[in-house]
Amino acid sequence: MYVRFWGVRGSVASPGRDTVVYGGNTACLELRLNGSDRVIIIDAGSGIRSLGAHLIRTRSAPIEAEIFLTHTHWDHIMGFPFFDPIYRPNTRLKVYGPITYEEDTLDRIVGDQLSYRYFPVRHSELSAAISYHQLREEEMRFSDGLRIKTKYLNHSLLCLGYRFEHDGKVLCTGYDTEPFQNVFSDDPASPGYDPVVCEEGARAVADANKALLDFFRDADILIHDAQYTLREYSAGKSGWGHSPMEHAIQTAIAAGVKKVVLFHHDPDRRDDELQALEKRFRAAQQPLGKPEILVAREGMQLSA
Ligand SMILES: [Zn+2]
Ligand SMILES: [Zn+2]
Repeated sequence: MYVRFWGVRGSVASPGRDTVVYGGNTACLELRLNGSDRVIIIDAGSGIRSLGAHLIRTRSAPIEAEIFLTHTHWDHIMGFPFFDPIYRPNTRLKVYGPITYEEDTLDRIVGDQLSYRYFPVRHSELSAAISYHQLREEEMRFSDGLRIKTKYLNHSLLCLGYRFEHDGKVLCTGYDTEPFQNVFSDDPASPGYDPVVCEEGARAVADANKALLDFFRDADILIHDAQYTLREYSAGKSGWGHSPMEHAIQTAIAAGVKKVVLFHHDPDRRDDELQALEKRFRAAQQPLGKPEILVAREGMQLSA
């Protein structure tokens, strides 16, 4: 199992001199499996443009690929119109992803980016054969032994974590998300305080966080939301749908993960800040061994 990072940034593409080391493109991962020709793409952020060019350059056969969208926020789909294989008649593409509202189908949400008001080409004019498949929490098994499980995360829009299992190896994604938290006050002085409701809320939150740990359990690689530091998160970013880096690392430790990759960097996060954070977290973790902590950067390749 092998993963390559084509876009690691969250929210919006952020090119410039402060992001050249880690990269400014938004979320896009390429996953390959041992002994398989299958091309798996996770998310279609702006990084997918370079991946498309790479596929066309390096593959002699027509491109067949599957895109698994974590959700349809713009930073995860904005690259789709620039994915060159969709303009090639022999390309066959399957796009999977969750939708929040039944009346907005996945083909509309992704495909409507290709309409004349936004783009010079319409989706109906594309040469590739593209099919869309809506996902919920579920498990898929394929004839080559690939197993994919999905899990709802804690985000402002329906968002899926993925667990890819193949040949004894496991890769999980856990973004965009933040820790589940009790929305019911535990302060007896606050108006509307109800100890029973508060306790039920606390139990539901504990169950949801435990279920996520089980979902990530023993993964070889976990690619986790790490948009904020704990200090930033505590100072007003809680509830924005993204995790502090410290939470990503704690999750990986609790789930017995081998490698955790801090991902979905804040667009304002400079290279020197990420380098300092990477150094600090790795130094703190080194005596403990597992998990290895990595900060996602464009072009990074990992195998499990
Ligand atoms: Zn995002
Ligand atoms: Zn999002």
